[in-house]
Amino acid sequence: MAAYGRLPIAFEKGDGVRLYDINGKEYIDAIAGIGVCGLGHCHPAVTQAVNKQVSRLVHTSNMYHIPLQEQLAARLCQLSGMENCFFSNSGAEANEAALKIARLHGHKKNIDAPAVIVMEGAFHGRTLATLSATSNRKVRAGFEPLVSGFIRAPFNDMESLRNIAKNNQTVAAVMLEPIQGEGGINMPNADYLAAVRKICDDNQWLLILDEIQTGNCRTGKYFNYQHFDILPDVVTSAKGLGNGIPIGVCMAANQAAEAIQAGSHGSTYGGNPLACAAALAVLDTLENDNLAQRAHDLGQRIKDGLQQALAEYDYLTEIRGQGLMLGIELNKPCIELMKLAAEQGLLINVTAEKVIRLLPPLILSDQEADGIVNTLSKLIIAF
Ligand code: PLP
Repeated sequence: MAAYGRLPIAFEKGDGVRLYDINGKEYIDAIAGIGVCGLGHCHPAVTQAVNKQVSRLVHTSNMYHIPLQEQLAARLCQLSGMENCFFSNSGAEANEAALKIARLHGHKKNIDAPAVIVMEGAFHGRTLATLSATSNRKVRAGFEPLVSGFIRAPFNDMESLRNIAKNNQTVAAVMLEPIQGEGGINMPNADYLAAVRKICDDNQWLLILDEIQTGNCRTGKYFNYQHFDILPDVVTSAKGLGNGIPIGVCMAANQAAEAIQAGSHGSTYGGNPLACAAALAVLDTLENDNLAQRAHDLGQRIKDGLQQALAEYDYLTEIRGQGLMLGIELNKPCIELMKLAAEQGLLINVTAEKVIRLLPPLILSDQEADGIVNTLSKLIIAF
């Protein structure tokens, strides 16, 4: 089906930050499969874990205990401060689980039609519930009737949350991305997440954080909320968790951890031995190679480099982001830059029409990071 507008490129091999197309042309990948391959392409630790597991046991179903899934859940709970995990195969499915938890929580509070507050600029996926939670009209258009039960508020605006709290008794949860990815790398104000946590506590709303793009060390901590000294009730993760092997997870704490009981949710593949073996290798590598700190340092290096290179450029609005989740906003549409960069052997993305998005692998060398700055800034200036 014609779901994707694709660039005229086909890759056949990947190695670290590099991809090679079917004509042998080499590319530096500064988007990493849209924030998925945090360890770069074909990382030896993941390749080895998958190879070993694929010849031992691939799949059994969740009718039985899956020791690797239990190990992975324990590791993720320890990393996140959550209590339990539900495994899925994608980010959208992880968010579906989170939204189902919100509804269960609402019904427990005797709300007949529980609502979830979601943000302007949010992206939560392409299933019917998650596209209904998403703010971009293009994502929703044509799929009406949308799933009901979402109230939209401006990102970074506590006043609007206070108004909703005052006037609406049906809210069960607030769901947000701590940094909005698809929405244009929109950063939270310094005190925003703590203030949202507080209003959730005051009103018995669950705080659901979608860390599908921000998680897995990309922003300099394992999860972005760990920069703010708060704990959510529910966290979702996917993308970087499997480094390309499809896996997602919805983690929960406190009352949210009790919401799903046997029979109330499920997935055939979710958390199968193969996916869990890959994710365990990812966690080991992120930790052993101290890649959260590396993402922080590299992000600063790239940001500083771009700031310097683009200081005199008239069309620059702002360079923002945290760790290796970076946005360069221009004051003109720049989608065409994706193609121009690819011609120069650099893979980038443009989101929200005017924001060049970089989500490079966390295993970049300093020289590779400088190379990205150099190629990209020249392209931007010539654009
Ligand atoms: N949530 C966020 C913040 C995302 O960035 C994405 C994907 O871009 C999703 C959810 C959906 O994930 P998936 O495409 O794996 O369903």
